[in-house]
Amino acid sequence: VSEATYETAIIGGGIVGLATALALVRRGTGPLIVLEAEGRLAAHQTGHNSGVIHSGIYYRPGSLKALNCTRGREALYAFCQEHAVPYERCGKLIVATQESELPALDALAERGRVNGLEGVRRLDRAETRQFEPHVSAVAALHVPQTGIVDFAVVAQAYARVAAQQGAVLRTSAQLRQVRSRDGLFELSTSGGTVRARHLINCAGLQSDRVARMCGARPRLQIVPFRGEYYELVPARRSLVRHLIYPVPDPRFPFLGVHFTRRIGGQVEAGPNAVLAWSRHGYRRGNVSWRDAGSLLTSLGFWRMARRHWRMALAEYRRSWSKAHYVRALQLLVPEVTSDDLVPAGSGVRAQALDERGQLVDDFCIQSAERAVHVLNAPSPAATASLSIGEEVARTACAQFYGA
Ligand SMILES: Cc1cc2nc3c(=O)[nH]c(=O)nc-3n(C[C@H](O)[C@H](O)[C@H](O)COP(=O)(O)OP(=O)(O)OC[C@H]3O[C@@H](n4cnc5c(N)ncnc54)[C@H](O)[C@@H]3O)c2cc1C
Repeated sequence: VSEATYETAIIGGGIVGLATALALVRRGTGPLIVLEAEGRLAAHQTGHNSGVIHSGIYYRPGSLKALNCTRGREALYAFCQEHAVPYERCGKLIVATQESELPALDALAERGRVNGLEGVRRLDRAETRQFEPHVSAVAALHVPQTGIVDFAVVAQAYARVAAQQGAVLRTSAQLRQVRSRDGLFELSTSGGTVRARHLINCAGLQSDRVARMCGARPRLQIVPFRGEYYELVPARRSLVRHLIYPVPDPRFPFLGVHFTRRIGGQVEAGPNAVLAWSRHGYRRGNVSWRDAGSLLTSLGFWRMARRHWRMALAEYRRSWSKAHYVRALQLLVPEVTSDDLVPAGSGVRAQALDERGQLVDDFCIQSAERAVHVLNAPSPAATASLSIGEEVARTACAQFYGA
């Protein structure tokens, strides 16, 4: 292998790409390069999320999400401890605000038990108030495994360790074209050409396009959903001690607006889940004609729209009207007012949609010739990253070396 030729190229320097790099360098699979489009690592989903280390309570038993979240969560806590990344295992409440939500709350507790969570406790109204004095609840679940961390800091730490073990990390290198020649991929990027024997696609919001560039025909496409946050003004942070979540609507992969204490002490509210017309649509008015066009010309999109238009309208209403947003938050903490909240940025989720118009619920990792594509890695993929990295590395080694 000559100097400019790598055994493996990973496309995407987010937390999944970097965790995969870590898993591969540990296996000693040969020269490895991570190609990142932006001028810095963790520039998209990894640097724009809620910073919650999820417990694994929500996910269908046996799913990749359930398996990798519970495994990845503990591996992440251990990694943060070992590499001095600040984190806190603070626990969270999932709150039923009306009697009709109690069966769903009990179903979640049972799911948590099946997923191996110990110590999840059902709290009555008075016990809930001991944890969170300002919460309005009929009952709640206390989930002790949940924590908080800054995932951009985690990703930097993965990058540091991977680089120490020989991985090359190249930023400002957006993959633009892939040619296959003499058993090698020739990767044209905005930062020059790189040759690699194998390719692993961890391109998040662009993962379907990168897969197509490589000649794969994924039967799904990425739909961007923006999540907009507010933040409690410092004088009102005492309204929330830890993390307060609603009982989620099982028809959607999103958790509903919630309160999250950040590792830096701020308290965030959100995120909502608004269909974005640009894969980098961090602001309301952002439209990319290419991204909007690929949605509007896909049958899957229209099937999804027909099924979920009511929910989409409610999300748009909460996006455009602070009063509507605040009303959703007041279901959890009635004392919170519009004056207590200031806008606090946003993130864009990469959510895969299949041809039938279904939002793909589970993580999706597909093998192709000399390549592996990570085609759906939404929340809790940051929590699960070390386990997903292992899973991708295992899939890659089986595919590339039959091992
Ligand atoms: C609003 C929001 C809240 C969330 N909250 C949580 C949470 O609390 N807990 C949790 O566990 N998860 C959460 N998530 C999910 C989590 O952030 C993602 O699952 C995770 O960051 C995915 O990592 P990734 O590496 O796949 O994607 P990304 O971080 O998006 O990385 C993909 C990278 O690929 C690069 N790339 C794209 N195209 C190319 C190209 N052509 N060439 C080179 N590079 C390219 C991009 O620039 C990007 O850096 C949240 C996500 C969002 C958006």
